[in-house]
Amino acid sequence: MSESELQRALARRLGEHAEECGECRAAPLPLGELSRVLARQVVVVDAVGLSRRVAAALRPELARLASVWFWRRFGRGVLAALLPLPAIVALDAWLLSFVHEWAAAWLPEALVTYLVVSYGALLVLLFAATYAAIPLALAREAWGRSVARLEATA
Ligand SMILES: [Zn+2]
Repeated sequence: MSESELQRALARRLGEHAEECGECRAAPLPLGELSRVLARQVVVVDAVGLSRRVAAALRPELARLASVWFWRRFGRGVLAALLPLPAIVALDAWLLSFVHEWAAAWLPEALVTYLVVSYGALLVLLFAATYAAIPLALAREAWGRSVARLEATA
């Protein structure tokens, strides 16, 4: 229903009321004047400024919630990644000791020890890099999700 249709419907209902009501018939309301005065009023809403103020007011709470979400996910991710670690370390230690024993039969003991310890150090470095990548992967996932949400609303 458009604005003028609404005004006509209201005027019709008021007219019907005025026909039945003696008080309104004796002293009719200046409806035309009131309508003109109300139509001239313009409510200025600064939507951009309002949005900016609301966003500024919400920013600390959003940051707090994002931080809580991130650390919860981070804890779960690290825990899930740590669970198989003892088995992996035990398997690697067993394999390296087996390789050490096997290679020591043909190569000098010092060289074999050097190679096995170097390979072990490389494995430790790879483990450390993997665990260090967990927060980066989570941040990247959260970033991708927020971009997808922005694209969906745009
Ligand atoms: Zn009346």
